[in-house]
Amino acid sequence: MNAPPSAPVIGDLLVTGDRLEVWCQNLGCSRTEITVWMPEEAVARLGAHTTFADARRILVCPACKAAGRQKMIGARASVLDYYGRQERERLAQYEAQYGPEAADLLKAHLRRPGR
Ligand SMILES: [Zn+2]
Repeated sequence: MNAPPSAPVIGDLLVTGDRLEVWCQNLGCSRTEITVWMPEEAVARLGAHTTFADARRILVCPACKAAGRQKMIGARASVLDYYGRQERERLAQYEAQYGPEAADLLKAHLRRPGR
């Protein structure tokens, strides 16, 4: 439990707004699909100072009872939320640099179907 001070903790989700993705890695379990917890829920369940590594060890699957101690539970900050945030930041930067019309064109380009 003596994680380096720089290790990411569950409480970081409150800062970034990213949700927590949790899933069971026990093949054949009904909970292998990712479940997302809102940052507040993740903190309430796991504690703000718990590292992601510790969260993966602590969690137990409610369906098959597989435990993270056996490396059976996955938990990470939402990848979708992460990339969504990156894209919003990039768009804001682009808008500041080239103006709102250019940013709208880029937004339309990014929302093309099939991307
Ligand atoms: Zn399971």
